[in-house]
Amino acid sequence: MIAPVHLLSIAALAGLLSLCVLGSLARSGMAGIGESIRANLLTLAAFGGFALQVTAAPLWLSVLAPNALVALALCCYYTGVRRMMGRTVPRRLMALSAIAALLAVAAYTYVEPRMALRISAMSLLQTGFMLATAATVRGGMPQNRSRYAYWFVWTVAAVSAAVCGLRALLYMTGVAHTWALLEATTWNVVFLTLGLLTLPCLMLGTIMIIHDRMLAEREQEANTDFLTGLLSRKAWWLQAERYCAQALRTRRPLTLLLLDIDHFKRINDLHGHAVGDAVLRHFGLLAIATLRSSDHAGRVGGEEFAVMFPDSRGEAVMEVAGRLLESVRRTPCGHGGGAISYTFSAGVAEWIPGENLQSLFERADRKLYASKAAGRNRISGPGVEAEPAERAAITA
Ligand code: GH3
Ligand code: MG
Ligand code: MG
Repeated sequence: MIAPVHLLSIAALAGLLSLCVLGSLARSGMAGIGESIRANLLTLAAFGGFALQVTAAPLWLSVLAPNALVALALCCYYTGVRRMMGRTVPRRLMALSAIAALLAVAAYTYVEPRMALRISAMSLLQTGFMLATAATVRGGMPQNRSRYAYWFVWTVAAVSAAVCGLRALLYMTGVAHTWALLEATTWNVVFLTLGLLTLPCLMLGTIMIIHDRMLAEREQEANTDFLTGLLSRKAWWLQAERYCAQALRTRRPLTLLLLDIDHFKRINDLHGHAVGDAVLRHFGLLAIATLRSSDHAGRVGGEEFAVMFPDSRGEAVMEVAGRLLESVRRTPCGHGGGAISYTFSAGVAEWIPGENLQSLFERADRKLYASKAAGRNRISGPGVEAEPAERAAITA
């Protein structure tokens, strides 16, 4: 049978490998990487301490110190997982459970030396941390992305919690017993093998999650219009095509609203490009405040915006657009002590079953230009024009 000390060496090598990969991600600044690296280092140091048990090293060095390092590594790793998922860290609870386990280890080392109960105390601690890790990862799973990496970590944490729980139970009840942590008994080898696999597997899963999060951030950046926070043209278009396909499948209505800020060039010319940018940002905020989160809004050109309304008919969209126009009229864009009033013109078109996005877009665009031609500051849609003509005011 393989000697437990050899198992430790193999696990340490796997830990070193994970460390090398984590090191390559360290400068990305993602939450949780630093803690994962520290947890890995602490566990490697703990392995070194445990290995000293085959020598005549003092108990504080070969038992207390490495168990304290394991407890710290668990706290560190869990902190990283919580931060990675954007959750608060329950520091007090973590510290209390680690201290309780370490007090038990100290008591069963110096007061009443009982190897099995020492193992049980630390196994229970790991069970708690692994259950908490599984729950945190489960709660932080993304909605619209692959959850593979998350399920991987969840599975490793859940299996580890089950194995550690069983280990604690078997040693506590006396079914399994050992005189030394690194004694080559069957139970010891089985539990050590499973236990030592946990670190590299958790690190592997954590690296996969970190990669996924980095990718999600870059995708978010690429899909978001920098100025307004709405979708970029490409992201808007791709999703809008999916809405057309969905409407065809479900036979539900779908309506498109196209908006264009009136005389925007004048705002730029009169007040400068920076003020023009501030107006675009202002419009983005008003649009986000007025629309529902299910309404699909994007900036499709310089001062042109598109909103797709799944499950909505033209009249309902005319109403929403009217509210947005009203809100833009009532809330001028504050700038340098003054206020820039602006308006927009809009066109609304209801999707015709089977129609592609390009054709729907062109129909809404024709309506938009009808609004412009009729004097701007209005909305044209499937029915009558919804808004009275009113000259767009630009004041500073
Ligand atoms: P209309 O009422 O007919 O729509 O007139 P308009 O002046 O709004 O339209 P036009 O197409 O003549 O001008 C749009 C201007 O928008 C021209 C362009 O310089 C400006 N623009 C485009 N993108 C940006 C941007 O990101 N920031 C700023 N400040 N201006 C932009
Ligand atoms: Mg335009
Ligand atoms: Mg314009």
